[in-house]
Amino acid sequence: MGMTMTQKILAKSAGLDRVEAGQLIEGKLDLVLGNDITTPVAIKEFQKAGLNQVFDRDKIAIVLDHSTPCKDIKSAQLCAICREFAKEHQITHFYDVGQMGVEHALLPEKGLVAPGEVIIGADSHTCTYGALGAFSTGVGSTDMAAGMATGLAWFRVPSAIQVKLTGQLGPYVSGKDVILHLIGRIGVDGALYQSLEFCGEGVASLEMDDRFTICNMAIEAGAKNGIFPVDEKTIAYLKGRVNREYTVFKADPDAVYARQIEINLSQLRPTVALPHLPSNTKPVDEVAGKPIQQVVIGSCTNGRLKDLREAAAILRGKKVADGVRCIVIPATQQIYLDAMAEGLIADFIQAGAAVSTPTCGPCLGGHMGVLSDNEWAISTTNRNFVGRMGPTSSMIILASPAVAAASAVTGVVTDPATV
Ligand code: SF4
Repeated sequence: MGMTMTQKILAKSAGLDRVEAGQLIEGKLDLVLGNDITTPVAIKEFQKAGLNQVFDRDKIAIVLDHSTPCKDIKSAQLCAICREFAKEHQITHFYDVGQMGVEHALLPEKGLVAPGEVIIGADSHTCTYGALGAFSTGVGSTDMAAGMATGLAWFRVPSAIQVKLTGQLGPYVSGKDVILHLIGRIGVDGALYQSLEFCGEGVASLEMDDRFTICNMAIEAGAKNGIFPVDEKTIAYLKGRVNREYTVFKADPDAVYARQIEINLSQLRPTVALPHLPSNTKPVDEVAGKPIQQVVIGSCTNGRLKDLREAAAILRGKKVADGVRCIVIPATQQIYLDAMAEGLIADFIQAGAAVSTPTCGPCLGGHMGVLSDNEWAISTTNRNFVGRMGPTSSMIILASPAVAAASAVTGVVTDPATV
């Protein structure tokens, strides 16, 4: 009986020839990640356990992204704890204001993730790096503390759902629509503790930024991880970023899948998720006309260059509707620079959008765009849970950058093909 891609990566990390779904293993870690909210908790656990050394200062990444530049005294104090720890342990990959970006966009961009690697992060969207053929998953701060000290983590080997992609995306349809469609089909617990393994000839048509978006939201279906095969586009992305050796794993032809799902990319429409679950999806035309007060374009889901290009193509030469706040947040400093060089930032500002330095900000209701009572936002982020961006009466519609930008222009939920 063969193994899935994820199972092969986990077998190698545990030093085993083979593993099976359900097996408990202890795997070697290639990277341990934390942010300004979760790292201080991990540091406390680390110190409480009497630990005073990290396993490898080059294999820990600490990114101050959630509430930075610090929004209040509490967030400033949490960042200070991270800075002190990073200094004491000489953490190589410590990213503070000025260098940081939203962690899940930053780490791949900096070449900290390669195919076949095993990464844990004290953040649920760590699953993003499956786009590069790595196994990556979110953990709690205690696991982060143990990972920082030992370089090891235990895993229950997941079974897998094979998602076969055929066809190719049409105009105004992107990776966000693919993953919203999938979550809408299987539900927020449709892949509970399983791998979502993408395959099929449709993969080749997806840009890397689409694949990052898709893997980023694997957790929203309850998945342990999402993962894409490594192809020419992956290798091109890695070139110039990753200089160390890495291993490309492929699923065995006789790998066992708990379930198989097929998605014809050519048939997908721009899709949105209504409050309060990412699985509450509808084609955008069924929701068109719903008034919104705020638009957010950014986050670890959709703050990459392709996302900004798609939004700018719609906003260019137009104006954000009266009564709508449109907030654009490039996910990293490099993306910000690239967007500036392409004139995208000017497009946004001339349209009347506010452009922010990289931060998670409004995605978790932190800052840079918190909603008020009963307000509706359309957002390219990944969660529309009750109270995620403001008071419990506020509402979030999840959408792609194209749908969000089109809605900014009209002030109501809008199919980008009609703007
Ligand atoms: Fe989490 Fe949002 Fe930040 Fe992504 S952008 S890491 S989902 S808070």
